[in-house]
Amino acid sequence: MDAADPLAGMRARFDLPGGLIYLDGNSLGPLSHAVRQRMARVLEAEWGEGLIRSWNAAGWIDLAQRAGDRIGRLIGAEPGEVIVADSTSINLFKVLVGALRMRPGRSVIVTEAGNFPTDLYMAQGSVALLGQGHHIRLVEAPADLDAFRDALDEDCAVLMLTQVDYRSGRLHDMAALTRLAQDRGALVIWDLAHSAGALPVDLNAAGADLAVGCGYKYLNGGPGAPAFIYVAHRHQAEIPATLSGWLGHAQPFAFEPEYRPAPGILRQVCGTPPILSLAALDAALEIWDAVDMDVLRNKSQALGQLFIDLVDRDVQDPELRLISPRDPDQRGSQVAFSHPGGYGIVQALIQAGVIGDFRQPDVLRFGLAPLYLGYADIWDAVRALAGILADGQWRRPEFAQRAAVT
Ligand SMILES: *Cc1c(COP(=O)(O)O)cnc(C)c1O
Repeated sequence: MDAADPLAGMRARFDLPGGLIYLDGNSLGPLSHAVRQRMARVLEAEWGEGLIRSWNAAGWIDLAQRAGDRIGRLIGAEPGEVIVADSTSINLFKVLVGALRMRPGRSVIVTEAGNFPTDLYMAQGSVALLGQGHHIRLVEAPADLDAFRDALDEDCAVLMLTQVDYRSGRLHDMAALTRLAQDRGALVIWDLAHSAGALPVDLNAAGADLAVGCGYKYLNGGPGAPAFIYVAHRHQAEIPATLSGWLGHAQPFAFEPEYRPAPGILRQVCGTPPILSLAALDAALEIWDAVDMDVLRNKSQALGQLFIDLVDRDVQDPELRLISPRDPDQRGSQVAFSHPGGYGIVQALIQAGVIGDFRQPDVLRFGLAPLYLGYADIWDAVRALAGILADGQWRRPEFAQRAAVT
């Protein structure tokens, strides 16, 4: 399977340490050679030599738009619909408050009870800020279309969903849910944290309104890389600038005392972008210019299928349960299992050179990034997992020590 893999050559573009199987690209993607080279150039030539001149000469001032357009190609957006800015959490706040203000007279944010905590927390902050009876309505997982149909009434302003569940990897039907919410007059916000760079996404084909996502997961932009924000062209003139900072002004260098929002996606920018991090993300995105997302998806699904098949065949522990959908079309680019000893098992795996991660309460998560993983990696990872479960070494006390980041 590795010999027939059309993406096999991509691994050489990454700077992965030897002797390691990296199944955590859904939390932090690896360093690529392009990023290493770009960082050296940005530091030495652009910052070191160019200094302030580099805002113009090196194009720092519109780097966020260029990087945004590169991401746009991966998520079905047109040029000018995506910009890189801030963190995913902050971008969620911007679109949540913006969307609530676009639907005066409606007061409810509908989302999933199992959504990623920051999405829930930012929704809580948004309704607290706006007051006026705004509140959140939670749909219990596992959510299906009927559960959302019941929750979306004429009081619903926004449906906010993460397309790929961060724990189970369950994939929502973006087009169907978008249509359902819009038929009831609501706007839809998609969190693409586990979608961008993981599978083909087509925001415009789905008629999506607003979206956000991460730069440091499957896009490999580096720790704390800035995030992205998408506003469909048809909403760009209408959505208020929630965080009305100077770089989102129509004319920042006019230094006017009154805020006037920039046209288009630019009003989603607040302050000065972190150029070092942004340049790293932009360099990481170069790789994606050559990637066919359908080819990527095929490999991602095959990697996941192989993982599940090998666990079914080789792991005897009855407490290990697959919590990802078995149907590859309902799964993002990860497989996840539950086990009461989940934390210790993940720690034992890491010590054996297989890096996945643990999520509360009992979830072992394995990210499958087709750009740098091969089928033999999956084979070896499942063999390590089977061995650790069979001999019980994960019960050793050292593996129970909880670190700050799991
Ligand atoms: C990783 C993740 C985030 C991260 O938000 P930050 O502001 O970058 O920390 C947000 N939403 C989801 C669904 C995620 O998985």
